[in-house]
Amino acid sequence: MKAKKEVIIIGGGVIGLACAHYLIDKGASVRIIEKDTIGDGASHGNCGLLYFSDVIPLCSPGTVSQEIARTLKGTSPLYIKPTLDIKRLIWLLKFASKCNTGQMAKAAKEKYEILNYSISLFDTLLALKDINCDFEKKGILSVFKDKKNFENHETTNAFLKTYNLGGRRIDKEELQEFEPALKNDMAGAWLNKADWHLKPDMLMTSWRKHLSQKGLIIEEHCNVLEFETKGDAVVGVNTIKGNFAADAFILATGAWAPKTLRQLKLDLPVQPGKGYSITMERPGICPSYPCSLYEKSMVVTPWRSGYRLGGTMEFSGYDNNLNPKRLSKLISGATAFLREPVGHPVIEEWTSLRPMTYDDLPIIDRAPSLENFIIATGHGMLGLTLATGTGKIVCDMVFGKTPEINITPFGISRFR
Ligand SMILES: Cc1cc2nc3c(=O)[nH]c(=O)nc-3n(C[C@H](O)[C@H](O)[C@H](O)COP(=O)(O)OP(=O)(O)OC[C@H]3O[C@@H](n4cnc5c(N)ncnc54)[C@H](O)[C@@H]3O)c2cc1C
Repeated sequence: MKAKKEVIIIGGGVIGLACAHYLIDKGASVRIIEKDTIGDGASHGNCGLLYFSDVIPLCSPGTVSQEIARTLKGTSPLYIKPTLDIKRLIWLLKFASKCNTGQMAKAAKEKYEILNYSISLFDTLLALKDINCDFEKKGILSVFKDKKNFENHETTNAFLKTYNLGGRRIDKEELQEFEPALKNDMAGAWLNKADWHLKPDMLMTSWRKHLSQKGLIIEEHCNVLEFETKGDAVVGVNTIKGNFAADAFILATGAWAPKTLRQLKLDLPVQPGKGYSITMERPGICPSYPCSLYEKSMVVTPWRSGYRLGGTMEFSGYDNNLNPKRLSKLISGATAFLREPVGHPVIEEWTSLRPMTYDDLPIIDRAPSLENFIIATGHGMLGLTLATGTGKIVCDMVFGKTPEINITPFGISRFR
């Protein structure tokens, strides 16, 4: 009998690293196979929010009508490429069908379980000496320019309170003193202390180093081409660098999961949701809190070592081009809220693809009729936040242990 369980993880994003973390801790021998380099996908330039209070799913009442209205006004952060893509169309229709109160309440409860589960796991991870990522636990400020939107958040906050995740209302008069980087024509803000933030690219670099020291094997520039199966198991992966065998396989290829799964004839409803960010040096008047700019659906994240504007959502397939118009929306959005929206110099303009499911819940499950093949994708706008919870669940599944939270909502059978 082999001394150690051998596990291959396909995809070196934050989900892949989190799975590796718990598996190595449990004594497994782990190899990550990555088509580019570790942390090059969506896990690199995202906004870095550990958004534990974000229980309300994207598909909630009013989302569709609000986005149609904003599209007509030209102010929507959403862009849907007008091409005939049947899968995308079905995805969008299913998303729209989920935008009702009942579904929202159900998904919020299910999201809460995994968000809450991820908190203490993050606490332990971020306390490790060699994980350096400009991490802070000060909360996130949701800022409103429009008085009606600000007042309406009272209802959202009442809902969050039922999960013990309510925020503190900061009225216009107090806001100037509280966050002087904001312009003086804001309606108000809500501070949610449940949320944390960190610099995702720093996390990926130090986490990789930490795991490498503990024995993680990394194959980079190694595209997985197909899987070798025998009976009800996967026995190996064929890559551009040759074949690799293992006892268990984890698919953590984020937005690329449907492409990777094509050969196994598994059709998962994951759409690439393109987002952008611009990373700069801190501006002279830098916000001290990460700010979610409500009317612009974008985020401004300050770290000790930098500053990032991020957001937008584009459904345009696997297109990784940097569109200057979308980038400029981030600058104009920040300009509407901040005294000094831009820092100099600009360090990086970035885009990547979020793995979006139409019910805004991740997919964490065994592939049907493949006992040793686990899929962990579809984390949408919250992949960083849900990474530790996902990694721990996957590790328990690999070792045949029942996960500590109910994972039925994240199962593949919900799409049938
Ligand atoms: C602008 C923006 C802002 C965001 N802000 C936040 C935030 O504040 N908080 C938060 O929680 N989340 C945020 N997100 C979402 C988060 O970034 C993603 O949900 C998360 O990074 C997904 O992680 P992942 O590991 O599944 O995917 P990825 O990081 O994309 O990793 C998947 C990896 O698989 C590799 N791969 C694909 N195909 C193959 C193959 N055939 N062979 C080998 N390797 C392959 C890819 O190269 C990639 O490296 C944001 C996303 C964007 C775009």
